[in-house]
Amino acid sequence: MRVLITGAAGFLGSHLCDRFIAEGHTVVGMDNLITGNMDNIAHLFGHERFSFIKHNVSNYIYVDGPLDAVLHFASPASPNDYLEHPIPTLKVGSLGTHNTLGLAKHKGARYLLASTSEVYGDPQVNPQPETYWGNVNPIGPRGVYDEAKRFAEAMTMAYHRFHGLETRIVRIFNTYGPRMRLNDGRVVPNFIYQALTDQPLTVYGRGVQTRAFQYYSDLIEGIYRLLHSDESQPVNIGNPHTEITVQDLAERIVRLSGSRSPIICIEPTDDRFVDDPQVRRPDITRARTLLGWEPRVPVDEGLAATIAYFRQRI
Ligand code: UDP
Repeated sequence: MRVLITGAAGFLGSHLCDRFIAEGHTVVGMDNLITGNMDNIAHLFGHERFSFIKHNVSNYIYVDGPLDAVLHFASPASPNDYLEHPIPTLKVGSLGTHNTLGLAKHKGARYLLASTSEVYGDPQVNPQPETYWGNVNPIGPRGVYDEAKRFAEAMTMAYHRFHGLETRIVRIFNTYGPRMRLNDGRVVPNFIYQALTDQPLTVYGRGVQTRAFQYYSDLIEGIYRLLHSDESQPVNIGNPHTEITVQDLAERIVRLSGSRSPIICIEPTDDRFVDDPQVRRPDITRARTLLGWEPRVPVDEGLAATIAYFRQRI
Protein backbone atom coordinates (compact mmCIF):
# COMPACT_ATOMS: atom_id res chain seq x y z
CA MET A 1 0.00 0.00 0.00
CA ARG A 2 0.96 3.61 -0.43
CA VAL A 3 -0.44 5.53 2.54
CA LEU A 4 -0.68 9.17 3.57
CA ILE A 5 -0.34 9.81 7.30
CA THR A 6 -1.20 13.32 8.46
CA GLY A 7 0.34 14.40 11.75
CA ALA A 8 3.29 12.19 10.81
CA ALA A 9 5.76 14.03 13.04
CA GLY A 10 3.56 13.71 16.11
CA PHE A 11 3.55 11.14 18.89
CA LEU A 12 1.08 8.72 17.27
CA GLY A 13 1.64 9.70 13.64
CA SER A 14 5.34 8.87 13.86
CA HIS A 15 4.70 5.48 15.47
CA LEU A 16 2.18 4.75 12.70
CA CYS A 17 4.76 5.68 10.05
CA ASP A 18 7.15 3.17 11.66
CA ARG A 19 4.51 0.45 11.66
CA PHE A 20 3.56 0.90 8.00
CA ILE A 21 7.20 1.04 6.93
CA ALA A 22 7.92 -2.12 8.97
CA GLU A 23 5.02 -3.88 7.22
CA GLY A 24 6.56 -3.13 3.83
CA HIS A 25 4.27 -0.26 2.80
CA THR A 26 5.21 3.11 1.34
CA VAL A 27 4.48 6.10 3.56
CA VAL A 28 3.95 9.74 2.69
CA GLY A 29 4.10 11.70 5.95
CA MET A 30 2.54 15.15 6.24
CA ASP A 31 2.77 17.62 9.11
CA ASN A 32 2.86 21.39 9.61
CA LEU A 33 4.92 20.94 12.81
CA ILE A 34 2.60 23.09 14.96
CA THR A 35 2.92 20.46 17.69
CA GLY A 36 4.84 17.76 15.80
CA ASN A 37 8.59 17.31 16.00
CA MET A 38 10.87 16.22 13.16
CA ASP A 39 13.04 14.30 15.66
CA ASN A 40 10.24 11.72 15.80
CA ILE A 41 10.70 10.79 12.13
CA ALA A 42 14.36 11.75 11.58
CA HIS A 43 15.30 8.06 11.46
CA LEU A 44 12.97 7.54 8.48
CA PHE A 45 14.61 10.16 6.28
CA GLY A 46 16.62 8.46 3.58
CA HIS A 47 14.38 5.39 3.70
CA GLU A 48 13.37 4.59 0.12
CA ARG A 49 9.72 4.00 1.08
CA PHE A 50 9.33 7.17 3.16
CA SER A 51 8.77 10.73 2.05
CA PHE A 52 7.66 13.83 3.91
CA ILE A 53 5.66 16.90 2.92
CA LYS A 54 5.52 19.90 5.26
CA HIS A 55 1.97 21.12 4.83
CA ASN A 56 -1.02 22.33 6.83
CA VAL A 57 -3.87 19.97 5.93
CA SER A 58 -6.44 22.65 6.73
CA ASN A 59 -5.42 24.06 3.34
CA TYR A 60 -5.97 22.28 0.01
CA ILE A 61 -3.82 19.12 -0.16
CA TYR A 62 -1.96 17.95 -3.21
CA VAL A 63 -0.23 14.56 -3.24
CA ASP A 64 1.39 13.17 -6.37
CA GLY A 65 0.73 9.56 -7.39
CA PRO A 66 -1.65 6.89 -6.14
CA LEU A 67 -2.78 6.42 -2.53
CA ASP A 68 -4.39 3.31 -1.07
CA ALA A 69 -5.08 4.73 2.39
CA VAL A 70 -5.27 8.09 4.13
CA LEU A 71 -4.89 8.18 7.93
CA HIS A 72 -5.83 11.55 9.40
CA PHE A 73 -3.87 12.01 12.64
CA ALA A 74 -3.07 15.71 12.44
CA SER A 75 -4.37 17.73 15.40
CA PRO A 76 -3.19 19.33 18.59
CA ALA A 77 -4.19 16.66 21.11
CA SER A 78 -3.19 17.89 24.55
CA PRO A 79 -5.58 20.21 26.42
CA ASN A 80 -2.66 22.67 26.75
CA ASP A 81 -2.08 22.61 23.01
CA TYR A 82 -5.63 23.04 21.94
CA LEU A 83 -6.15 25.84 24.43
CA GLU A 84 -3.10 27.55 22.96
CA HIS A 85 -4.17 26.87 19.36
CA PRO A 86 -7.99 26.86 19.53
CA ILE A 87 -8.66 27.96 15.94
CA PRO A 88 -6.10 25.69 14.23
CA THR A 89 -7.58 22.84 16.33
CA LEU A 90 -11.09 23.59 15.04
CA LYS A 91 -9.76 23.96 11.50
CA VAL A 92 -7.77 20.73 11.37
CA GLY A 93 -10.73 18.73 12.70
CA SER A 94 -13.15 20.33 10.25
CA LEU A 95 -11.36 21.70 7.16
CA GLY A 96 -8.48 19.23 7.54
CA THR A 97 -10.91 16.34 7.72
CA HIS A 98 -12.81 17.62 4.71
CA ASN A 99 -9.60 18.03 2.69
CA THR A 100 -8.24 14.60 3.61
CA LEU A 101 -11.61 12.99 2.83
CA GLY A 102 -11.69 14.75 -0.51
CA LEU A 103 -8.19 13.52 -1.25
CA ALA A 104 -9.12 9.94 -0.30
CA LYS A 105 -12.18 10.09 -2.56
CA HIS A 106 -10.13 11.47 -5.46
CA LYS A 107 -7.49 8.75 -5.05
CA GLY A 108 -9.97 5.93 -4.35
CA ALA A 109 -8.21 5.39 -1.02
CA ARG A 110 -9.50 3.93 2.22
CA TYR A 111 -9.81 6.56 4.99
CA LEU A 112 -9.14 6.30 8.71
CA LEU A 113 -10.02 9.12 11.10
CA ALA A 114 -8.28 9.53 14.44
CA SER A 115 -11.16 10.41 16.73
CA THR A 116 -11.10 10.55 20.49
CA SER A 117 -12.75 9.59 23.75
CA GLU A 118 -13.32 13.37 24.09
CA VAL A 119 -16.40 12.89 21.88
CA TYR A 120 -17.98 11.46 25.08
CA GLY A 121 -17.18 14.68 26.98
CA ASP A 122 -17.62 14.36 30.75
CA PRO A 123 -19.47 11.05 30.45
CA GLN A 124 -22.51 10.13 32.47
CA VAL A 125 -21.98 6.43 31.83
CA ASN A 126 -18.80 4.52 32.66
CA PRO A 127 -17.36 2.65 30.79
CA GLN A 128 -18.28 4.31 27.50
CA PRO A 129 -19.59 2.13 24.66
CA GLU A 130 -19.51 3.52 21.11
CA THR A 131 -23.31 3.84 21.24
CA TYR A 132 -23.04 6.55 23.94
CA TRP A 133 -23.69 9.98 22.42
CA GLY A 134 -21.66 11.92 24.94
CA ASN A 135 -21.94 14.89 27.25
CA VAL A 136 -19.95 17.69 25.62
CA ASN A 137 -20.02 21.41 26.35
CA PRO A 138 -19.74 22.95 22.87
CA ILE A 139 -18.74 26.41 24.11
CA GLY A 140 -16.30 25.45 26.86
CA PRO A 141 -12.52 25.59 26.34
CA ARG A 142 -12.38 21.90 25.41
CA GLY A 143 -15.16 22.42 22.87
CA VAL A 144 -12.64 23.38 20.20
CA TYR A 145 -11.25 19.86 20.22
CA ASP A 146 -14.34 17.86 21.16
CA GLU A 147 -16.65 19.50 18.65
CA ALA A 148 -14.06 19.46 15.87
CA LYS A 149 -13.69 15.72 16.35
CA ARG A 150 -17.45 15.23 16.51
CA PHE A 151 -17.78 17.19 13.28
CA ALA A 152 -14.95 15.09 11.81
CA GLU A 153 -16.86 11.91 12.62
CA ALA A 154 -20.03 13.33 11.06
CA MET A 155 -18.14 14.35 7.93
CA THR A 156 -16.46 10.94 7.68
CA MET A 157 -19.81 9.14 7.97
CA ALA A 158 -21.28 11.48 5.33
CA TYR A 159 -18.48 10.60 2.87
CA HIS A 160 -19.09 6.97 3.65
CA ARG A 161 -22.86 7.15 3.17
CA PHE A 162 -23.06 9.68 0.37
CA HIS A 163 -19.91 8.91 -1.63
CA GLY A 164 -19.49 5.25 -0.68
CA LEU A 165 -15.98 5.96 0.61
CA GLU A 166 -14.47 3.16 2.69
CA THR A 167 -14.01 4.79 6.08
CA ARG A 168 -12.85 3.81 9.57
CA ILE A 169 -13.14 5.79 12.81
CA VAL A 170 -10.96 5.01 15.81
CA ARG A 171 -11.92 6.62 19.14
CA ILE A 172 -8.61 6.84 20.94
CA PHE A 173 -8.54 6.80 24.74
CA ASN A 174 -5.66 8.25 26.81
CA THR A 175 -2.45 6.96 25.28
CA TYR A 176 1.12 7.51 26.43
CA GLY A 177 4.64 6.46 25.56
CA PRO A 178 7.92 7.50 24.01
CA ARG A 179 7.85 10.54 21.66
CA MET A 180 5.42 12.55 23.74
CA ARG A 181 6.91 15.98 24.28
CA LEU A 182 8.44 16.78 27.66
CA ASN A 183 6.22 19.87 27.76
CA ASP A 184 3.20 18.21 26.16
CA GLY A 185 1.05 19.14 29.16
CA ARG A 186 -0.83 15.85 29.34
CA VAL A 187 -0.75 14.13 32.65
CA VAL A 188 1.72 11.30 31.96
CA PRO A 189 4.51 13.39 30.42
CA ASN A 190 3.85 16.18 32.93
CA PHE A 191 4.20 13.89 35.95
CA ILE A 192 7.24 12.07 34.54
CA TYR A 193 8.98 15.35 33.73
CA GLN A 194 8.20 16.69 37.19
CA ALA A 195 9.35 13.45 38.86
CA LEU A 196 12.64 13.40 36.97
CA THR A 197 13.43 17.05 37.64
CA ASP A 198 12.63 16.96 41.38
CA GLN A 199 9.61 19.22 41.02
CA PRO A 200 6.30 18.55 42.80
CA LEU A 201 3.82 16.46 40.81
CA THR A 202 0.82 18.72 40.21
CA VAL A 203 -2.41 16.80 40.73
CA TYR A 204 -5.33 18.96 39.56
CA GLY A 205 -8.28 19.23 41.92
CA ARG A 206 -8.46 16.41 44.45
CA GLY A 207 -7.00 13.88 42.01
CA VAL A 208 -10.03 11.60 42.20
CA GLN A 209 -10.81 11.92 38.48
CA THR A 210 -10.00 8.72 36.59
CA ARG A 211 -8.47 7.84 33.24
CA ALA A 212 -7.62 4.48 31.68
CA PHE A 213 -4.13 4.64 30.21
CA GLN A 214 -2.97 2.59 27.24
CA TYR A 215 0.55 2.15 25.97
CA TYR A 216 1.06 3.39 22.42
CA SER A 217 2.01 -0.02 20.99
CA ASP A 218 -1.41 -1.46 21.89
CA LEU A 219 -3.12 1.44 20.15
CA ILE A 220 -1.00 1.14 16.99
CA GLU A 221 -1.89 -2.55 16.77
CA GLY A 222 -5.60 -1.72 17.13
CA ILE A 223 -5.44 0.97 14.44
CA TYR A 224 -3.60 -1.33 12.06
CA ARG A 225 -6.25 -4.01 12.52
CA LEU A 226 -9.11 -1.53 12.19
CA LEU A 227 -7.80 -0.18 8.90
CA HIS A 228 -7.72 -3.71 7.50
CA SER A 229 -11.20 -4.58 8.84
CA ASP A 230 -14.45 -3.66 7.11
CA GLU A 231 -15.98 -1.79 10.06
CA SER A 232 -17.20 1.70 9.23
CA GLN A 233 -18.77 2.39 12.66
CA PRO A 234 -16.52 3.99 15.32
CA VAL A 235 -14.37 1.64 17.39
CA ASN A 236 -12.98 2.47 20.85
CA ILE A 237 -9.34 1.60 21.35
CA GLY A 238 -8.13 1.93 24.93
CA ASN A 239 -7.15 -0.11 27.94
CA PRO A 240 -10.11 -0.69 30.27
CA HIS A 241 -7.99 -2.65 32.77
CA THR A 242 -6.04 0.40 33.83
CA GLU A 243 -8.68 2.89 34.98
CA ILE A 244 -6.94 4.66 37.88
CA THR A 245 -7.24 8.00 39.62
CA VAL A 246 -4.84 10.82 38.78
CA GLN A 247 -3.55 10.61 42.39
CA ASP A 248 -2.80 6.90 41.90
CA LEU A 249 -1.00 7.69 38.65
CA ALA A 250 1.17 10.28 40.44
CA GLU A 251 2.09 7.76 43.15
CA ARG A 252 3.02 5.13 40.57
CA ILE A 253 5.24 7.53 38.65
CA VAL A 254 7.03 8.63 41.84
CA ARG A 255 7.62 4.98 42.78
CA LEU A 256 8.67 3.77 39.31
CA SER A 257 11.06 6.66 38.75
CA GLY A 258 12.55 6.54 42.27
CA SER A 259 11.79 10.26 42.56
CA ARG A 260 11.94 12.36 45.74
CA SER A 261 9.27 14.72 44.43
CA PRO A 262 6.23 15.42 46.62
CA ILE A 263 2.72 15.16 45.17
CA ILE A 264 0.64 18.31 45.57
CA CYS A 265 -2.97 19.14 44.73
CA ILE A 266 -3.51 22.40 42.87
CA GLU A 267 -6.52 24.15 41.34
CA PRO A 268 -5.43 25.51 37.96
CA THR A 269 -6.99 28.94 37.55
CA ASP A 270 -6.72 28.91 33.77
CA ASP A 271 -8.98 26.95 31.40
CA ARG A 272 -7.08 23.66 31.67
CA PHE A 273 -9.31 22.27 34.38
CA VAL A 274 -12.69 23.52 33.08
CA ASP A 275 -15.06 20.66 32.15
CA ASP A 276 -12.39 18.12 33.10
CA PRO A 277 -14.02 14.69 32.61
CA GLN A 278 -14.45 13.02 35.99
CA VAL A 279 -14.28 9.43 34.75
CA ARG A 280 -13.19 7.75 31.55
CA ARG A 281 -12.87 4.11 30.58
CA PRO A 282 -13.48 2.43 27.24
CA ASP A 283 -15.92 -0.37 26.62
CA ILE A 284 -13.86 -2.38 24.13
CA THR A 285 -16.38 -5.12 23.34
CA ARG A 286 -16.52 -3.93 19.73
CA ALA A 287 -12.72 -4.00 19.23
CA ARG A 288 -12.51 -7.40 20.89
CA THR A 289 -15.29 -8.87 18.77
CA LEU A 290 -14.54 -7.25 15.42
CA LEU A 291 -10.75 -7.03 15.52
CA GLY A 292 -9.81 -9.76 17.99
CA TRP A 293 -7.87 -6.98 19.68
CA GLU A 294 -6.90 -6.80 23.33
CA PRO A 295 -4.51 -4.38 25.07
CA ARG A 296 -1.43 -6.19 26.36
CA VAL A 297 0.89 -3.77 28.13
CA PRO A 298 0.31 -3.39 31.91
CA VAL A 299 0.40 0.22 33.07
CA ASP A 300 3.52 -0.09 35.26
CA GLU A 301 5.46 -1.68 32.40
CA GLY A 302 4.46 1.03 29.93
CA LEU A 303 5.19 3.77 32.46
CA ALA A 304 8.65 2.33 33.18
CA ALA A 305 9.48 2.34 29.45
CA THR A 306 8.20 5.90 29.11
CA ILE A 307 10.21 7.05 32.14
CA ALA A 308 13.33 5.52 30.55
CA TYR A 309 12.67 7.49 27.35
CA PHE A 310 12.18 10.75 29.26
CA ARG A 311 15.32 10.16 31.31
CA GLN A 312 17.38 10.12 28.10
CA ARG A 313 15.86 13.39 26.98
CA ILE A 314 16.32 15.44 30.13
N1 UDP B 1 -3.86 16.42 35.26
C1 UDP B 1 -3.28 16.64 36.50
N2 UDP B 1 -2.05 17.22 36.55
C2 UDP B 1 -1.35 17.59 35.43
C3 UDP B 1 -1.94 17.36 34.18
C4 UDP B 1 -3.21 16.78 34.12
O1 UDP B 1 -3.86 16.30 37.53
O2 UDP B 1 -0.23 18.11 35.58
C5 UDP B 1 -5.16 15.74 35.20
C6 UDP B 1 -6.23 16.45 34.40
O3 UDP B 1 -6.93 17.37 35.18
C7 UDP B 1 -7.10 15.28 33.95
C8 UDP B 1 -6.13 14.11 33.85
O4 UDP B 1 -4.97 14.50 34.55
O5 UDP B 1 -8.04 14.96 34.95
C9 UDP B 1 -5.75 13.77 32.41
O6 UDP B 1 -5.37 14.97 31.77
P1 UDP B 1 -4.68 15.02 30.35
O7 UDP B 1 -4.25 16.43 30.14
O8 UDP B 1 -3.63 13.98 30.26
O9 UDP B 1 -5.77 14.66 29.25
P2 UDP B 1 -7.35 14.43 29.21
O10 UDP B 1 -7.54 13.00 29.56
O11 UDP B 1 -8.02 15.35 30.21
O12 UDP B 1 -7.70 14.76 27.82
